[in-house]
Amino acid sequence: MVRKMEEIAMKRCYRCKEIKPITEFYKSRAKKDGVATPCKSCSKEIMREKWKSNPEKCREIATSFRLRRPFYNWAQKSLNSHKKKGVKIELGNKELEQMAINAKFCPLCRCELKLNKGNVKSNLPTLDRINNENVIRKDNVMIICHQCNTTKGGRTLKEFIDYCKLIASLEKMLQKYSCIN
Ligand SMILES: [Zn+2]
Ligand SMILES: [Zn+2]
Repeated sequence: MVRKMEEIAMKRCYRCKEIKPITEFYKSRAKKDGVATPCKSCSKEIMREKWKSNPEKCREIATSFRLRRPFYNWAQKSLNSHKKKGVKIELGNKELEQMAINAKFCPLCRCELKLNKGNVKSNLPTLDRINNENVIRKDNVMIICHQCNTTKGGRTLKEFIDYCKLIASLEKMLQKYSCIN
């Protein structure tokens, strides 16, 4: 069986001194091996301590990051909400952030996608699993507007297209409703 290096590499956490698989460490561009020195659970602990000791400064940093990288924030929230529903995540925050930056229009209705604060608007970008697989990968998601996502609901893309065809085929029959011209 071929195994990826990533699955077998181990590293010792400088903080808890435990030897853990490399997947238990965050990536870090600042480090030579590309991996952070504390393990994920220690990193979280360090963050908690920082927030405790200087909440104001931490809040300031978090706010300025959110303002600088609004799509990162969006990506993180989108992935987290899928994770909570039990969907496996195989797409990184940064990767999804880049996809969202590049997604200018909804691929279904062609409206201009816009991130907005406060109320959910119909053209808010949302993450859609094309075929509702229980995993998020780069190749099985698309970024569509909130309104299209709500309309698509639990349908696969194929089912959604069939649904749209059905509605379109009813146009003549529906013309008896005076509000359709
Ligand atoms: Zn540790
Ligand atoms: Zn749309």
